[in-house]
Amino acid sequence: MSRIVTYSPAYTIVPTYECFNRCTYCNFRTDPGKSPWLTLSAAEELLKPLQSQNICEILILSGEVHPNSPERQAWFQRIYDLCELALSMGFLPHTNAGPLSFEEMQRLKNVNVSMGLMLEQLTPKLLKTVHRHSPSKLPEVRSQQLQWAGELKIPFTTGLLLGIGETEDDWWETLEAISQIHQRYHHIQEVILQPHSPGSQQTLNAPPFNPHQLPEVIFKARRILPQDITIQIPPNLVKDDQWLLACLEAGARDLGGISPKDEVNPDYPHPNEQLLREILQPAGWELVPRLPVYPQYESWLSVDLQKLVKKKSLQKKDIIDELTENPVQVSDRLSREEIYNR
Ligand code: SF4
Repeated sequence: MSRIVTYSPAYTIVPTYECFNRCTYCNFRTDPGKSPWLTLSAAEELLKPLQSQNICEILILSGEVHPNSPERQAWFQRIYDLCELALSMGFLPHTNAGPLSFEEMQRLKNVNVSMGLMLEQLTPKLLKTVHRHSPSKLPEVRSQQLQWAGELKIPFTTGLLLGIGETEDDWWETLEAISQIHQRYHHIQEVILQPHSPGSQQTLNAPPFNPHQLPEVIFKARRILPQDITIQIPPNLVKDDQWLLACLEAGARDLGGISPKDEVNPDYPHPNEQLLREILQPAGWELVPRLPVYPQYESWLSVDLQKLVKKKSLQKKDIIDELTENPVQVSDRLSREEIYNR
């Protein structure tokens, strides 16, 4: 029987690259006022051609406007409107826009099927180094987001950024914290383990996370995290095929959103699905698309969102049928029932 690894056919839109934080490993941000905000009409032009492709998820990924800024309300409204636009065009939005107020999260729940925020690392030591000029990277602010997501029943993605000056013990503590909060609310779909991969825009002069350590971290994370949380790794940051396979053997089961551009790591383009299949299939792994909300959380969504998710599930089934009918792409050893139940 083939083993399954999932990914989300996705496209990322960026309301704004401006961010009031200055994380030294950032390859995304511009200074406030230096990045024009994405208009709804420009977003519509970006999304239109995707309607005829197999894209399900629209990742709305934004730089942060300070909570006390007079621009905050307009920034939030733009994100909300972009989510509504994506929904109206038949896509499933997933927003990651940094820490939000409880009310902002509550409102965004109405127009998102899931949301996300990287915890990165909980150790306060980083506030003296890579996060010295990043007020929203306060560990307690970020863990509170996870708690609020739980209280609001928002299916959530979080993760660790590895190799930004933390210790191994810091990894286990951060994973333990995620585990504890999940045991209370049962709302974490996935934990991303993202290796720091230096880019051309960052000011931090530090080596990449040692690739050979990743399988070991995944192996241990799998033992710390509850079984219903999926471990995700970004395949564009796991360059070596054997290393990617080792990560799966260690317990990773999802490759996240595969979109034309990784906005957070623009120097590392995503491999396309065909290339991934060519790496995975000979080792007995089948690459299967998934939606940005896992089936066990669909009942948490509004009736309207549930309807759209159902429609997308049928579309996903068609994609899988297409793949299963092609023996070159998907082995007949793969149980359809197993795929559909993901
Ligand atoms: S990593 Fe995120 S929070 Fe930090 S500066 Fe970049 S965009 Fe802002």
